[in-house]
Amino acid sequence: MSPAKPAGGSTEPVRFSYSRLQSYGNCPAQYRYRYIDRLPEQGLSIEAYLGRRLHEVLEWLYDPDRSAAQPSFDALLARFRESWAAAWQPDIMIARPAWHTDDYYQLGQRALAGFYRRHEPFNAPVTHVERSFALPLEGLPNVEISGIMDRTDRLAEGHWAIHDYKSGRRMISEAKAGSDLQMRIYFWALQQLETGIEQVDIVWHFLQHGRSVTLPSVDWQIARIAAQLRRKVEPLLAVEERAGALEPKESPLCGWCHYWAACPAKRGQTHPARVAQ
Ligand code: SF4
Repeated sequence: MSPAKPAGGSTEPVRFSYSRLQSYGNCPAQYRYRYIDRLPEQGLSIEAYLGRRLHEVLEWLYDPDRSAAQPSFDALLARFRESWAAAWQPDIMIARPAWHTDDYYQLGQRALAGFYRRHEPFNAPVTHVERSFALPLEGLPNVEISGIMDRTDRLAEGHWAIHDYKSGRRMISEAKAGSDLQMRIYFWALQQLETGIEQVDIVWHFLQHGRSVTLPSVDWQIARIAAQLRRKVEPLLAVEERAGALEPKESPLCGWCHYWAACPAKRGQTHPARVAQ
């Protein structure tokens, strides 16, 4: 979802997602191209493509409006296959030299197989899938915090669970789970979207690893999360005024960045990723 850009005299809120909050630290120039200049991205990484397909299939699997019958594993794979083919676009890029399109497709199938085994019969008390929000941040006028929760369940009266599907390689460590900003944002949002919340479990599903990690009954305080968000947003509002001074910060992530045409650090260089076949 694109954040709102404040035009001159516009009262349109400026939206900050978790990705936007993280982006500046990764590379200030990339932050500028994506969120201030809003340049179109050139290409789509195959990792992002795979992640979208897996999310799409799991959204279907847990859609509260889907008919009651439990899908077979073959039906799940067929859904993945159809999604993969239907959404394919000609500018999908592969950055890892030894990896090919089929490796990613197989990875997706394995991830779904593991998920299916661990979670059938998919009778969780789901309230929403792909639940998007854009909520004002108290204390900062004209700022909204936005995001999309992959899934929310209401396990019992007042007892909720927020689920997040991770399609990448990175696993969260136990030490970091309790301070994960993305899930803290979702927790903060859920408290505003629902009433009577007494207990919230946080659940990550690391699809490539075939593992789920649960933090039961988190004791996070929404006032502290709001303060944390204000501390992150305020400096980013200030950089909007000096966007031209935002410098490139080169790192291995450049291999997955599709702003090379704009980036002065990459001028004259050819992007190392190749078009997926
Ligand atoms: S190519 Fe690298 S340095 Fe340039 S904008 Fe992208 S991430 Fe930043």
